[in-house]
Amino acid sequence: MPTLLKKIASCILNKTEHGASVKFPLRSFSLALLLAQSTGVNAADKINDGPYVFLDKERENTAFWVCDDKLKQTPIIEHQLKRPEDCAKLAEPKLHSQAPIVEADTYSNVGMIVALSDVHGQFDVMINLLKAHRVIDANNRWAFGDGHMVMTGDMFDRGHQVNEVLWFLYELDKQAEAAGGKLHLLMGNHEQMVFRGDVRYVNDRYQTSANLLNRSYDALYNKGTEIGRWLRTKNTLVKINNLLFMHGGISPEWLERKLDISTANQLFREHLDDSKEELKQNELLNFLFFKNGPTWYRGYFKDELKDNEVDNILNYFNVEHIVVGHTSQERVLGLFNNKIIAIDSSIKDGKSGELLLIKGKSFSRGLYQGEQRTL
Ligand code: ZN
Repeated sequence: MPTLLKKIASCILNKTEHGASVKFPLRSFSLALLLAQSTGVNAADKINDGPYVFLDKERENTAFWVCDDKLKQTPIIEHQLKRPEDCAKLAEPKLHSQAPIVEADTYSNVGMIVALSDVHGQFDVMINLLKAHRVIDANNRWAFGDGHMVMTGDMFDRGHQVNEVLWFLYELDKQAEAAGGKLHLLMGNHEQMVFRGDVRYVNDRYQTSANLLNRSYDALYNKGTEIGRWLRTKNTLVKINNLLFMHGGISPEWLERKLDISTANQLFREHLDDSKEELKQNELLNFLFFKNGPTWYRGYFKDELKDNEVDNILNYFNVEHIVVGHTSQERVLGLFNNKIIAIDSSIKDGKSGELLLIKGKSFSRGLYQGEQRTL
């Protein structure tokens, strides 16, 4: 469907691009239905969603599911979740037997690295890509050996399979570890937004789940939930071999502030639940969490940086490449002679996407159908 038509349909369906509500006359409703049908979105579709696992005493051994718009519960037995009958194909994860711990943020001598970004709830696209490049096997389990996989943030918002993405990564995290590999799940600006209650970009379908669970959307992922607790231990930046990964980018302002990776990761973790007003009041947090900070910066894409400024940034961290998501491209793209690599390949559109594959000094784009192209 042409973009303009899509926009009209989305507005009539009571949602603008930025999530603000718009009023629409009743008469437009039939047009909205017509447009919705032609995009494959059926207004009458019932929601299957979950599981949701809360850590408070009364509910810690219960998993909550939304099956055909109804709330259901199942007991958690020996950490294993089991979905109710006839509840689509929702994940049945095994919970980690121990509380998650904060991981290191610097690694060396890593043989293979795969990176992707900005999945935004597009589970099917992510799975197809990872399978096509044998990062996971036919059963969606880790198949990347002692390699490292980096997800540079923005798993939340926009798309319709956010919990599918999160529970898959939750399980992959342990599988990678057991195989001697590693999954680095870096926090993006959309994780931060959800954690502090900014839900403007949440897909409409999750309103049903939030209503049934009698919680606000952000409370489905607060630190009193299994997924929320796990995500809050994660880093925002990671250095692997001669590469530095984060969601947005490192601006020259970072260098002026003489920050280091571990201090920043710690500050991000400590303040993920702060309100926007609280963050804005603290000069350093205002830098870290917003415009020129590592989860929002877009300067590499604006012709505002000179080559020597990029070199200064790389030298500061003693790396040769910086890998970023956040600013959407049509493909995995090398900038400044591959010193900067942009990996938000628009998976969020739900149609296709690419991976970045690194083996020694060789950098490749992993295309959607499984081919590789030297970057
Ligand atoms: Zn982003």
